[in-house]
Amino acid sequence: MTDCLFCKMISGEIKADVVLDDDKVLAFRDINPQAPVHILVIPKEHIATINDLDEAHSDMVGQLYLVAKQIAAQEGIHEAGYRTVMNCNADAGQSVYHIHLHLLGGRLMAWPPG
Ligand code: 5GP
Ligand code: ZN
Repeated sequence: MTDCLFCKMISGEIKADVVLDDDKVLAFRDINPQAPVHILVIPKEHIATINDLDEAHSDMVGQLYLVAKQIAAQEGIHEAGYRTVMNCNADAGQSVYHIHLHLLGGRLMAWPPG
């Protein structure tokens, strides 16, 4: 998708503070962090929302979580704890329509989320 912000990060057209880059997944620091650690884990395939996922994406979705787990350990937040969030559509506050798993940690989280 040429007009997608996160696809432009994957292609290198827009710079990102990259934490992990493999054949299927890119992870980079959020530009407006909501916690001391706030990293976005995205698939390299353009998928707009959770609603656009199907069976063929099962492995890729699992990979997003395995990468989040690995980065949490790298960032040293795995034992204290962290939160993963994927917002879907307007009511959840999704603002970039290329699915992304938020990895948030380094502070105590409140529940329920706002
Ligand atoms: P959403 O609201 O869609 O769940 O999350 C989108 C996230 O992308 C937000 O946390 C926002 O701060 C982040 N974001 C938006 N534009 C950029 C950007 O240009 N660079 C980076 N690194 N993050 C961005
Ligand atoms: Zn995209």
